[in-house]
Amino acid sequence: MKTFVFTTTRDNKVPRSFFEALTYGGSLEGSEIIALVAGPLSQDQETEMQKFGRGQIFHFNQALPQWYDTFYYLHLIQSFFDEKGEPDLVVLGASEINQVLGPQIALKLSAGYVARVISLPIQQAPWRVKRYAYSGKIISHVELKTEKAVFLLSANVLSPIELGAGNFELWNALPAKGEGVEVLEIKRPESKQLLTEARIIVSGGRGMRGPEYWKPLEELAEALGGATACSRPVSDEGWRPHHEHVGQTGKIVAPDLYIACGISGAIQHLAGISGSRVIVAINKDPEAPIFQAAHYGIVGDVHKVLPVLVEAARRLK
Ligand SMILES: Cc1cc2nc3c(=O)[nH]c(=O)nc-3n(C[C@H](O)[C@H](O)[C@H](O)COP(=O)(O)OP(=O)(O)OC[C@H]3O[C@@H](n4cnc5c(N)ncnc54)[C@H](O)[C@@H]3O)c2cc1C
Repeated sequence: MKTFVFTTTRDNKVPRSFFEALTYGGSLEGSEIIALVAGPLSQDQETEMQKFGRGQIFHFNQALPQWYDTFYYLHLIQSFFDEKGEPDLVVLGASEINQVLGPQIALKLSAGYVARVISLPIQQAPWRVKRYAYSGKIISHVELKTEKAVFLLSANVLSPIELGAGNFELWNALPAKGEGVEVLEIKRPESKQLLTEARIIVSGGRGMRGPEYWKPLEELAEALGGATACSRPVSDEGWRPHHEHVGQTGKIVAPDLYIACGISGAIQHLAGISGSRVIVAINKDPEAPIFQAAHYGIVGDVHKVLPVLVEAARRLK
């Protein structure tokens, strides 16, 4: 069974979600990985990929379009399939680009598509997998009627495992021209880390009182090497930028550690953080719903607790 895994690079690196997808694909019975990495890479990343890969990893080593362009990537993937043959299974790591490309690749392959897959398949061909539905409130079991399948993984489905030596080689295709879309403007987030890739997130809600009180939260994120995020009312109020908004209508994150400061834990917020490995909540109300979702809770005034945590985190450095 030929399993295709795809990623683009960012700042000359591949995202962690790619290693998760490689591990997922490599863990399936009879699976032979054929992966495509599009975009420039640093030398150490090439070595890293050989460790995590099994089968063949091809590198399309060209600068990618400045703007995201679906047609460009679809053309690239189609050229790859034309040359290397169509896969039986496509496994895509959790990324915004893959979210757009997944259904389109499925259409090209006449494959069944399942998004937000949360574990290894219950059954292979015919495929049965588990996925989140209704903003993570339920887990549904999906059985595909098609022979081919495209899975978009939820983040943190499994820890990347070094599967063995992957064969890494360059692959060239004629760069495609974008069609049909004219990009007028693009606004990039100012944050240094992609929220969806961050391993540690310190997030603030309305309990933070106002934008002028955000400094200790930012200091904690900085001391822990993490990113900052917020609840929806906070970005609606303009206290924080919209790209930091987490939840059902914002980013879905899956860090190792999510620290929720002055966030009540509404279901719409929890929908965006349920993939977190460890959730720590700081809230002055012991009855706040966030404590139901949290692994550790601190009942207290966030403005008193945060400076203590900042000091402790700095001592750990
Ligand atoms: C269709 C729809 C989609 C939505 N999508 C999202 C979404 O994607 N993301 C999202 O976040 N919300 C979303 N919401 C809004 C959601 O329902 C909640 O209103 C929102 O999450 C609440 O934000 P909050 O926890 O910051 O504020 P609040 O609910 O006001 O909670 C503030 C919390 O801070 C605590 N607090 C106050 N002062 C302190 C202090 N000094 N120290 C410690 N704790 C303190 C309070 O006890 C309280 O628990 C959506 C709503 C709808 C209807």
